[in-house]
Amino acid sequence: MKFDLLFPNVKDGFQNRQYPVIVYCINDPSGSCQICGDKTHWIEFSGECHICSSECYNQFWKNYFKAYNRASKRDDELRAV
Ligand SMILES: [Zn+2]
Repeated sequence: MKFDLLFPNVKDGFQNRQYPVIVYCINDPSGSCQICGDKTHWIEFSGECHICSSECYNQFWKNYFKAYNRASKRDDELRAV
């Protein structure tokens, strides 16, 4: 669900415990969601990008860990040589 629908009428800087690193930022309305490209005010601070919804949030972290695991595996392979 879009964060705008999940958290309607929130103030600048709003954060929610369920999504600890997502912040509502009214000053930056021109950002595009990292996953789907929709315009959004919501920013994922640890990833330093815009994220518009819970689905995109989950996809963002899925992509992140996939990339992280790939990089870790490569590191292990390099160490084994
Ligand atoms: Zn999105």
